Amino acid sequence: MKYRHLGRTGIRVSELSLGSWITFHNQADANAAAEMMSVAYDLGVNFFDNAEAYARGKSEEVMGAALKKLGWRRGSYMVSTKIYWGLHDNVNEKNTLNRKRLIEGINGSLERLQLDYVDLLYCHRPDPTTPVEETVWAMHNIIEWGKALYWGTSEWAAAEIVEAIQIAERHHLHKPVVEQPQYNLFERGRLEGEYVRFYREYGCGATTWSPLASGLLSGKYNKGVPKDSRAALNEWLKPRMEDKEKLAKVAALEPIAKELDATMSQLAIAWCLKNPFVSSVITGASRVEQVHENMKAGEVAEGITPEIMERIDAIFGVKKEEEED
Ligand code: NDP
Repeated sequence: MKYRHLGRTGIRVSELSLGSWITFHNQADANAAAEMMSVAYDLGVNFFDNAEAYARGKSEEVMGAALKKLGWRRGSYMVSTKIYWGLHDNVNEKNTLNRKRLIEGINGSLERLQLDYVDLLYCHRPDPTTPVEETVWAMHNIIEWGKALYWGTSEWAAAEIVEAIQIAERHHLHKPVVEQPQYNLFERGRLEGEYVRFYREYGCGATTWSPLASGLLSGKYNKGVPKDSRAALNEWLKPRMEDKEKLAKVAALEPIAKELDATMSQLAIAWCLKNPFVSSVITGASRVEQVHENMKAGEVAEGITPEIMERIDAIFGVKKEEEED
């Protein structure tokens, strides 16, 4: 496993990490989660991602129970959580980053995770109704109180993150150091477009999500929706997995995977690793075999040449513009 600095911070995250969205609680109980986390950890993963909204808090409970069972030394791993959607359908408690919600949110997450602190705390989405200054101060205070060590954003516009950084710098507060965008062969616009200048200028880290586009890029949906798959369990995902145009692109990747002696999943995850702004690709898994398979993506990435990258771009209809000095 290789480790990459989280942007310009001193902390290093494994280039492949493991997240709990949809899977923990819905598909994996604490024992199954502990088994997957243990395989990942033994292969060098030091970062596990979560969010209070996942399974309405139950995903954090499962990860907390798994961590307790695993009994790892706290310094040897990192856990993140995210706040925004909330757990209660109540004014001030949903879709917000107000001070009250953030502070109550982190307290609840720590209780469910059975931890004294999380390593990374994300604002899960931007909140246009709360002044960014209020959010920055609350995140700063949470860090000062030792309940989180670093903070960041997820799916914020570059301009919103820059505003948060500038407010923090003006008041000498802890600033956001990481953004968590979706990044995979079908969703690359933000990381390769809007964010480029801002990553260069401000040196934020990127922990990216859904490298397999929920499993679509594994190739397993090319013969229909498998019975035990994420799309079979989550009706809303089905149309995405039956999109003929996308499935044709996935099929066209197969010869490249074969050439690299890799599975389709390994190729798709390895491709994400080729982006130099990526600190860690957050993978997802519903079973331990997938963790074993996916964690080999680092080796596959080493074999992906610029020529292969161009062939992949051609399949996905991407034409890279020449960079100007
Ligand atoms: P992926 O796109 O990689 O999808 C993972 C799913 O694909 C698995 O649960 C499994 O589903 C299937 N899969 C994984 N490996 C294989 C394999 N080798 N062969 C076949 N199928 C496979 O990642 P996620 O969408 O799960 O996202 C990863 C993490 O990113 C999340 O856990 C979460 O921590 C984070 N995230 C963050 C978001 C944000 O807003 N910040 C949003 C979403 C995710 P199955 O077996 O059930 O079909």
